[in-house]
Amino acid sequence: MLEATGNQSKPLVLVVEDEAPLVTMLRYNLERQGFRVEEAIDGEEALEKIAERKPDLVLLDWMLPGVSGLEICRQLRRRNSTRELPVIMITARTEEQDAVRGLNIGADDYITKPFSLDFLLARMRALLRRAGPVRAKSKLSFHDIEIDLVTHRVYRNGRLVQLGPTEFRLLEFLIQHPRRVFSREELLDSVWGPNIHVEPRTVDVHIRRLRKAINAPGELDLVRTVRAAGYALDIEPN
Ligand code: CA
Repeated sequence: MLEATGNQSKPLVLVVEDEAPLVTMLRYNLERQGFRVEEAIDGEEALEKIAERKPDLVLLDWMLPGVSGLEICRQLRRRNSTRELPVIMITARTEEQDAVRGLNIGADDYITKPFSLDFLLARMRALLRRAGPVRAKSKLSFHDIEIDLVTHRVYRNGRLVQLGPTEFRLLEFLIQHPRRVFSREELLDSVWGPNIHVEPRTVDVHIRRLRKAINAPGELDLVRTVRAAGYALDIEPN
């Protein structure tokens, strides 16, 4: 991929950064190293360009005007089309804790300003090699449940299950983290979005609907309720 000479086969990097001199420096150097470069100065533009141009890798500044780099990363990880998009966070902060937060949210790597270009290039190349062609998974499964992300169909034990859009997203999220218990707040944040204000009880309503839809009479209940903690997709009831 990196050795190819055709213009279209050069990896496309989206640089999301509001400091113009840094963007100019990155563009100049990355183009010399065989990358194509797109720019975005804030989160909104970044999400638009990612949808339009489908970059192979994103260099994402932490401190942006408006939506933070961290929040953009969170949004990218929530969408099927960008879940596996390689993201390197660029941070001016040196605190270990911030870097860890970035990685927890799903950044693949991070570098701290000021950084050397060689160091950045090495990280980028390693990440692109590891990622290969960027392609989202089309099917997710757990026990006897299968979700087809292309057709948005859900099957339990081969039987087609009808789900509302919220239940679908809820199941899609839980199935990606099998057995892990999520609090109502975590589910609201991940499934509904961090800026949507709904009552935590709303989660209970949708969990109830999800249960009803995926569990036929006599079938194992795959949704585990953990008192005072939250919910998980699990085959062990307790
Ligand atoms: Ca910045």
